[in-house]
Amino acid sequence: MNSTAAIPALSAAPADEVDWARTLAVRAKRVKQRRQIFDLIAVSYLIDATLLLMYAFADTIPFGAVPAYLGCVLLILVATVTLSEHGFHDRYKDYFLVLPTSAVLIGLALGFMACVPQAALVFTGTLLIIFSVASLHASRKECVVGWSVLTIALAVLFLFTDHPISVPGGSLLERLTTLLVLVLTIGRCMFVSMYSASLRETLYKRGVELREAYQRIEELAELDELTGAFNRRCIMRMLNEEIARAERNATPLSLALIDLDWFKRINDGFGHPIGDEVLRTFAITIFANIRSFDRFGRYGGEEFLLLLPNTSREQSHAMLERLREIVAELDWTAFSPGMRVTLSAGIATMTLGETADAALARADGALYTAKEMGRNRIFTI
Ligand code: GH3
Ligand code: MG
Ligand code: MG
Repeated sequence: MNSTAAIPALSAAPADEVDWARTLAVRAKRVKQRRQIFDLIAVSYLIDATLLLMYAFADTIPFGAVPAYLGCVLLILVATVTLSEHGFHDRYKDYFLVLPTSAVLIGLALGFMACVPQAALVFTGTLLIIFSVASLHASRKECVVGWSVLTIALAVLFLFTDHPISVPGGSLLERLTTLLVLVLTIGRCMFVSMYSASLRETLYKRGVELREAYQRIEELAELDELTGAFNRRCIMRMLNEEIARAERNATPLSLALIDLDWFKRINDGFGHPIGDEVLRTFAITIFANIRSFDRFGRYGGEEFLLLLPNTSREQSHAMLERLREIVAELDWTAFSPGMRVTLSAGIATMTLGETADAALARADGALYTAKEMGRNRIFTI
């Protein structure tokens, strides 16, 4: 397919063209996968035909049965391959069309079992192989239904007809052929199991790789999606960096935990989407009123962490007071009549040798005090 060759050149193409190219590439890959499977099916049926031929030479079955069987198989395979090459299979979620194909092949095996009962063992082997492949793709319900239908069909064949179903073993050639039927059937079933085991292993490895890739992407992403503030991981990393810098330069570092007051009431009263808008507007307001070297991140929910490098206890308190006033005086009624948004903050200024966790715990304590004191206020510890 020439479609795959077109993919790499499309990075600058419009999105729908890229999507289309991707679809074509996926289809080309699926067609290729199906070709491999059809090759395996063809080989398996060639083995069956050879075994039938051996039975024919041993006078177990009429010679005519072999070309008849091969003709039917060929007809089914040509039809399936033609449909596959024309993308018919791609219209379905199961793009191998395992179940319909299996149903047709099971019908064929049962039909020949009825017509050539002396070689029933060959067709029993075929049924075993088809079922071991189909059950890998089928749901539990489909397996039970398929098995029930097969049971009924075999019961009819075995109990309600007098076809001479037997295990040929009269002559040496018959015994050899029967031995080969058994050995090759077990071999092909084993091949199916090994193939599915390797598929499972590949899938497992891909799953692990995908999980690791997602983790890496998350690590690389620094911003909180909703507010545009740094995300928690990032602001925590920055806190440690700022602590190290403050210690190196012997400069003060303050940090403020800011929490919106009664935010649950805003969500409950005005709806979650409005709550999101409030969070976004609040973050923009803070960004607009802090210094370029201050760091503002979302600590979780409606709680934010503001890092104030080179800022003393008194300066940080004044800064947070100013931010509190700005937020409280903003016209929130534009969102919804009667809306009021305020913040409370707890400030801690780093002491010498203090860890990030210890400073955060102090800021959290200060925030708790600010809330206790009635909210819409700043408490510095
Ligand atoms: P307090 O003044 O004590 O902080 O009260 P509060 O209602 O703000 O605190 P509480 O912890 O009870 O509620 C916080 C609420 O914030 C609950 C949660 O649904 C909401 N919240 C957290 N994250 C988001 C978000 O991303 N969007 C919206 N809309 N709401 C959020
Ligand atoms: Mg709150
Ligand atoms: Mg909170």
